[in-house]
Amino acid sequence: MVPNYTISEKTQHFLELEEQHGAHNYHPLPVVLERGEGVYVWDVDGKRYYDFLSGYSAVNQGHCHPAIIAALVEQAGKLTLTSRAFHSSLLAEYAAYVTRYFGYDKVLPMNTGVEAVETALKLCRRWGYVVKGIPENKAKIIVCADNFHGRTLNVVSFSTDPTARKNFGPYMPGYEVIPFNNLPALEKALQDPNVAGFMLEPIQGEAGVVLPDEGYLSKVRQYCTDAGILMIADEIQTGLSRTGRLLACDHEAIRPDVLILGKALSGGTVPVSAVLADNDIMLTIQPGEHGSTYGGNPLACKVAMAALEVLRNERMADNAEKMGHLLREGIKNIQSPFINIVRGKGLLNAIVIDHPHKDAAWELCLALKENGLLAKPTHGDKIRFAPPLTINAAQITECVEIIRHSLQALNH
Ligand code: PLP
Repeated sequence: MVPNYTISEKTQHFLELEEQHGAHNYHPLPVVLERGEGVYVWDVDGKRYYDFLSGYSAVNQGHCHPAIIAALVEQAGKLTLTSRAFHSSLLAEYAAYVTRYFGYDKVLPMNTGVEAVETALKLCRRWGYVVKGIPENKAKIIVCADNFHGRTLNVVSFSTDPTARKNFGPYMPGYEVIPFNNLPALEKALQDPNVAGFMLEPIQGEAGVVLPDEGYLSKVRQYCTDAGILMIADEIQTGLSRTGRLLACDHEAIRPDVLILGKALSGGTVPVSAVLADNDIMLTIQPGEHGSTYGGNPLACKVAMAALEVLRNERMADNAEKMGHLLREGIKNIQSPFINIVRGKGLLNAIVIDHPHKDAAWELCLALKENGLLAKPTHGDKIRFAPPLTINAAQITECVEIIRHSLQALNH
C-alpha cells in the first residue's frame, strides 16, 4: 500500500548508522536533517521542507532565530556554567526578568521539561505537608488520563499510555488519575482531604491536541481554590504563544498556582525549563532539597531572555492566532473523506485520519514528506500540525495545498 519513495544513498547511510549505534527509543520518519531557518528545514540532500512539528513546539520562534542565536553565541564565549555553588549575574537578571514576564514571585530553573514537571510535583507535595498540613506520606496529586508529562519513572507512573509504562514498574504511589475535561470527576477526587494539587495540560498536546470544553479551565481554577489545593499547569507544549496567547491558560484568563514551562523557552537551542510560583509555595523548598548542575546556567538564562523577547517583540501569539484560523479553515475546505476531525488553537493543531488502513496516518506523513512538509503521527491516527509561529499567510496557503495533494496518496 505504501508508495515506494526513493531514499538517497546519503540518507540511507545516516539511517543505517543511527539504527546500528543509537538506541531504538524513537520511530522517526526516514528524513535526515542538517539545516534549519525559520519555518524551513533542509535534509542532507539539500531538499527543503516546512517543519510542521517545530521540535514538538520547542522551535516556536523559528529555526535558528538570529536574535536567539546571537545571544547564544555571545554568551557561549563568555561564561556558560557556574553551577549553583556560586551566583551568576545572568541568573539574577533572568530570575527578575522571567518572574516579571509571567507575574510570579519566584522561578526555579531546570533543563528538560520532565525535570520541571518533577520539580513542580516535589514542590506540590512539600507544600501539601508544610502549608496544608497533610499527614506524612499521605499527599496525593490528581492528574488526567491520556496525559503526557515526560518520561521519568515517576512521571510514567501516572501515565495511562501502556507503551510508556509497560515493564517499567513498580510505580510511584500518590497519584489519582481522573478523566480530562470532566468536572464531576474532579469534584469527587477533591473530597479527599489529602489532595495537595491537580496537574493538567490546558490542552493535551501529545494525546492529539485534545481541547477541553470552554469554561473547563476556569472551573478547574475555581475548584482548586475552593478545595485549598494547588492548580499546576503544564504549559511545556501549550505555552509561549503556541496557542495564540502567551499561555493557554490565558484563553480563560486564569492563573495557575504553579506554572511549568520548557521547550520554546530556549527557542529550540539548549534545554531550558522553569517552574514559576509565588513565595508561599516556592519557599517551602530550602537549600539542598532540590537542584540541578545545569539548571539556571548563564548560557540558558541569556538564551531564555532572548527567546522571550522575540516572542513579545514579534507578536508571535497574535500571528499564531491568525495563522491557526487560516490553517484550520484551509484544511476543512479540503473536504477529504479521510480527515475526520480538524481541531486546535492557534498553531497547535491536529487532524484525525479516518481510513480503513491502520497505518494511513504514517503513510500520509510519508507523502507529506515527499511533497515538502514534515509532520509526525501521534497515537496512531492523529497528525499534529504545529509549524513555527513565524509562518505567514502565503506559506499557510502553500502548506494547505501540500496537504490536499498528499491526501491523494490515501486514495487506493
Ligand atoms: N510536558 C508536556 C506537556 C510535554 O509536551 C512534554 C514533551 O513533549 C514534556 C512535559 C516533557 O518535556 P521534555 O521532553 O523536555 O522532558
